[in-house]
Amino acid sequence: MDISVVIPLYNEDESLPELFSWIKRVMEENKFTYEVIFVNDGSTDRSWDVINELHNQNPDTVHGIKFRRNYGKSPALYCGFDRAKGDVVITMDADLQDDMDAMDRFLEKYEEGCEIVYGVRNKRDTDTFFKRFTAEGFYKVMKALGVDIVFNHADYRLMSRRAVEGLAQFSEVNLFLRGIVPQIGYKWTTVTYERAERFAGESKYPLKK
Ligand code: UDP
Ligand code: MG
Repeated sequence: MDISVVIPLYNEDESLPELFSWIKRVMEENKFTYEVIFVNDGSTDRSWDVINELHNQNPDTVHGIKFRRNYGKSPALYCGFDRAKGDVVITMDADLQDDMDAMDRFLEKYEEGCEIVYGVRNKRDTDTFFKRFTAEGFYKVMKALGVDIVFNHADYRLMSRRAVEGLAQFSEVNLFLRGIVPQIGYKWTTVTYERAERFAGESKYPLKK
């Protein structure tokens, strides 16, 4: 099975080398064929240089897409899907908060016939009070507005090729992937995992965002 890992990032230069070696280790241990697509969402730090270095060291495995400005995480993910070649596409954050070990369970669910597997964090211990407050408020407001959304699921998820193609049929311009993916249909499930602290830097979601 070919796996595409799509990673949206905004100013994550410190985490990228660690993130890539982490993915590489898990993929090689499991003998998966894989590619990693980094989507640089208008970073102003050295992220793009780091992506280039990783690409030069792993030309067949690491690919980069660069946005000219900061568009947001959903457009970055969407763009990554477009480029992904795998039978399954796994999306994850760049800050190593998403537990790689949950990926095995994602793949098990896929083998069992699920086309979409949502990573759901079990608790919010590693978040600041501000983050917990804004995040929970966000889910509640979205629900109240009628958006079909999986609680405590950030964008750590597996999608089959069929689900990715289903997503491509939506023509929304102002994308909010977490609200759209549940509308694709197909069989889905959740996998619960423990969310770690950020490897480096701070949340890229201040109140304004
Ligand atoms: N991110 C992005 N564009 C943005 C903001 C964030 O691509 O405008 C990326 C970020 O680099 C990370 C992921 O989206 O890989 C999740 O962001 P963050 O970790 O800051 O969110 P939190 O974990 O605090 O919810
Ligand atoms: Mg994070």
